[in-house]
Amino acid sequence: MNIVIFGPPGAGKGTQSKFIVQKYNIHQLSTGDLLRNEIKNGTDLGNKISSIMNAGELVSDKIVSDLIEKFISNENYKNRIIFDGYPRTLTQAKNLDILLNKYKQKIDIVLKLNVSLETIKKRILERKSIEKRADDNEEIAIKRFNTYEQSSAPVLDYYRQSKLLKVINGENSISQINDEISGLIDGI
Ligand code: AMP
Repeated sequence: MNIVIFGPPGAGKGTQSKFIVQKYNIHQLSTGDLLRNEIKNGTDLGNKISSIMNAGELVSDKIVSDLIEKFISNENYKNRIIFDGYPRTLTQAKNLDILLNKYKQKIDIVLKLNVSLETIKKRILERKSIEKRADDNEEIAIKRFNTYEQSSAPVLDYYRQSKLLKVINGENSISQINDEISGLIDGI
């Protein structure tokens, strides 16, 4: 089973992914975490992308797609991945299908967390004090939300058409969302 978790920054994708990872024994693939690691390790790629990420913009489709192929091609993760933060554009969504197909896999469900901008601002400021992410401040949070709004609609349409999309109220409590997600996954 491969899952995509989708939604604006601060929607709770990371929190819910961790719950799904534990309950269903699958692997979380967060492109944001992979990119932050590149920056932390001071790689050439990290140096190239840090200003883009800190401005709340998307890095190129090619960069993220190259990063995820390493996971999809790994037999240990075969049919056991939750994609957190990927795809974020229609090109990425199509590329994900091509890559999964290449390794004889597919997406089984797309979970979309719906959250208002007000809640996002609140959550990102709370997270800032815990995780100390460079892109977690109100101004960049709004920029990231706008970036999401601009690029997400075609991705959602794409998954709606393929009947994979399930929309979840991300304003509910963490445990309510856990329960709703479990019900959806168990029903696949
Ligand atoms: P996240 O941790 O998912 O909130 O991602 C943090 C930042 O990493 C985003 O604001 C983007 O700059 C970059 N990023 C993460 N995933 C992607 C992606 N799939 N495509 C482009 N940029 C991404």
